[in-house]
Amino acid sequence: MPTWEAVIGLEVHAQLRTRSKIFCACPTDYGAEPNSQVCPVCLGHPGALPVLNERALALAVRAALALGCTVHEESVFERKNYFYPDLPKGYQISQYERPLATGGAVAIEAGGGTREIGLVRLHLEEDAGRSVHDGGPDSDVASYVDLNRAGVPLVEIVSRPDVRSPEEAYLFLERLRSVLRYVGACDGNMEEGSLRCDANVSVRSAGETALGTRTEVKNLNSFRNVERALAHEVARQVAVLDADGAVEQETRLWDAAAFETRPMRGKEEAEDYRYFPDPDLPPVVVSPDLLEEAARDLPELPHARKYRFVERYGLGATEAHVLTLERALAEHFERVAELCGDPRVAANFELNDVLKLQHEAGLPPDVLPVTPERLAALIRLVAEGTVSGTAARRDVLPEVARSGREPAEIVAERGLERIADPEEIATMARRVVSAWPDQVAAYRGGKTGVLGFLVGKVLKESRGKADPAVVNAALREILGS
Ligand code: ADP
Ligand code: MG
Ligand code: ZN
Repeated sequence: MPTWEAVIGLEVHAQLRTRSKIFCACPTDYGAEPNSQVCPVCLGHPGALPVLNERALALAVRAALALGCTVHEESVFERKNYFYPDLPKGYQISQYERPLATGGAVAIEAGGGTREIGLVRLHLEEDAGRSVHDGGPDSDVASYVDLNRAGVPLVEIVSRPDVRSPEEAYLFLERLRSVLRYVGACDGNMEEGSLRCDANVSVRSAGETALGTRTEVKNLNSFRNVERALAHEVARQVAVLDADGAVEQETRLWDAAAFETRPMRGKEEAEDYRYFPDPDLPPVVVSPDLLEEAARDLPELPHARKYRFVERYGLGATEAHVLTLERALAEHFERVAELCGDPRVAANFELNDVLKLQHEAGLPPDVLPVTPERLAALIRLVAEGTVSGTAARRDVLPEVARSGREPAEIVAERGLERIADPEEIATMARRVVSAWPDQVAAYRGGKTGVLGFLVGKVLKESRGKADPAVVNAALREILGS
């Protein structure tokens, strides 16, 4: 049997972070009462005229530059015609022949190297409304339409079919989301629908250059679901081809509960949409000023920052990857590293403790639970030997996060100063030795691994405050080795 290769292209819809919709002044707040954020423009009332939101354009340009796209000086809004209850005008305003931007790439790190996943285009469009089929008292007989989302500004970003595995699709989305968040174009919140993804998949025999027939998989509401659905869909297509069947070009829906994709409809062709330029909107012009301003405001981007962290701070690629996914965390880390002078320890605290506390407190990804100054102060207390690393992590940092008080204050108040006095530690070690005679006998009988157990007991006796090296020495001395 031939070996099969998966070919995947992703279409991502990202909601731009504006306060109002793309062609009217209605707010874009998530979770408002259904149909409370609507007006004649986004409801498609006859005679109402759309006017482009400048902020949406500025954010889209910024996203395009961050992704290395070519931004076109002039682009054109077109009407994409189709009928659906949540589309009040009977068409969606989108871009087609002349999109805002083309080209560009997203860099991912896969299989030990960097791979660029090319982009076909990035264009502006409005979102449709939302059909609500479930959850109502009469959902068995009725569906509802909420038009709050109709007219919310989106960019659609289309990749080339350069993705070769479900894992790569995950990495692509993770990095794309990270870039969009870095530049403030999109908040990337998949649960609230501000980042959505459809995946196009085909399979071909390895070495083949022509593309196979593809399916498009929809309803992928988390990165993990994208990965799962793709793995599933690739396996399904391979099974069809192995049985000498043919893959049908169609749109399939991922059913997360049933853990499978199933057919939704035959795939539309572009001509079904009868695109034509929207006569209500003039061409979009990106002035040199706008372009320059967007370029000037671009921060260092995740990929570059990751490799700078590896180089400059001697971090591992994985550590640097996680530290740079979120701009706020990356900046927090750099500040802590600078203040405490030990980047490796700073990275360790960020990745193991700060992220955990952030998660436990239910904070958003860009809000850190402690200030860089306090974390750096705590790291210095550990380095000076005032408090043990264990007590710092277990007792001090969570309290700093809760109360916002200074680490030194908490250490003093709770008597958490590290114990390094050999006499004091020897006393505790003697207590442990008499409490665990069997282990002591085993140790003396040659089972030297038992020492770790006894060290643990002394540390526990000291409530994590004793210096492990001093404990070790004290025990060896008492046990006579
Ligand atoms: P449409 O607008 O009809 O969805 P496009 O040609 O714009 O079609 O492609 C949409 C996406 O599908 C792109 O991400 C593209 O890379 C991907 N794609 C196109 N052909 C294939 C294929 N044979 N296999 C996998 N992906 C494909
Ligand atoms: Mg498509
Ligand atoms: Zn409106």
